[in-house]
Amino acid sequence: MESNYRLPDTISYSRVNTFQDCYYKYKLSYINGFKLESNEHMTFGTMAHKLMEEYVKGDDVDTTVVLQEEFDALAKFGIPSLEDYWSFLKFELERNEEFQNIMNQVVIGVELELHDLENHLHGKIDLVTFDEETKTLTIWDYKASASDKLIGDLEIDGQLSLYTLLIANNPKLVEDHKIENIRIGYINLPKFIMGQPEVLKSGKLSKNKKQKVSYDDYVAKIEELEQELSDYSEFLEYLKENEVKPVTIVSQDVSEQDIIKFRDIHNQMYSLIAYHHGHDLFPESYSQFKCQKCPYYSICKKGEE
Ligand code: SF4
Repeated sequence: MESNYRLPDTISYSRVNTFQDCYYKYKLSYINGFKLESNEHMTFGTMAHKLMEEYVKGDDVDTTVVLQEEFDALAKFGIPSLEDYWSFLKFELERNEEFQNIMNQVVIGVELELHDLENHLHGKIDLVTFDEETKTLTIWDYKASASDKLIGDLEIDGQLSLYTLLIANNPKLVEDHKIENIRIGYINLPKFIMGQPEVLKSGKLSKNKKQKVSYDDYVAKIEELEQELSDYSEFLEYLKENEVKPVTIVSQDVSEQDIIKFRDIHNQMYSLIAYHHGHDLFPESYSQFKCQKCPYYSICKKGEE
């Protein structure tokens, strides 16, 4: 039996998710404290969050200040200066009608921190907006994905389900705004844009960085196309040809499936608490399929047991 591990004051989604994925991974990460080194993907994710936080708050984003740390980190991965990164995204956001509709709603919170009623689960929500006309609150999560999955049909994951639970556990918020519906969604800021490193099929960022089109050339081309094209699909075709992925926004009403997901998260939370109270929970067996993708694969000895 494991000894008692101190239970954290609050439990985040990533804790529950890691625990749900593999108890041993949880132990390595949160109890033994093995820290994973940041990679390019994580760095792009941090950039997306920082940029959006400043932008939604109405601040002018000076990337040389806000993103200096990330630029330095990316330089270590061999990704050169991304000075145009924010100009490009801002241009895309400002011409994206869906995003502008979101910005016309009431912003209830940016990096909004919430707890569940039992004060166990904790979450920080990227953006919460409220549409006064439809009385709909939407929980937004920022992504920086290169995946095609985000362009169309997107499965909303357990993290947003948990956030829904946290909102629903805050009756004051619900009553103050007379919320009638809750939606969940993603705003995807692609890292795969003009002048950015390419993302290979393997999911890795390419070290072969081709500057296909500069920001200025891109804007000029868009303006020219907008004069010429009546059809947005033709424009999307242009982006595709140039291997550019636009900002993507996906949202959906909270479904039965999401409710099942957050029940599941709750159950896992109780297992996690039990584990911290000394109950041995190691039914995990080593699975080649899962383990080879695990960031702890090289240090995990479970496969040798
Ligand atoms: S390698 Fe497998 S058993 Fe080991 S921590 Fe990762 S998922 Fe768990």
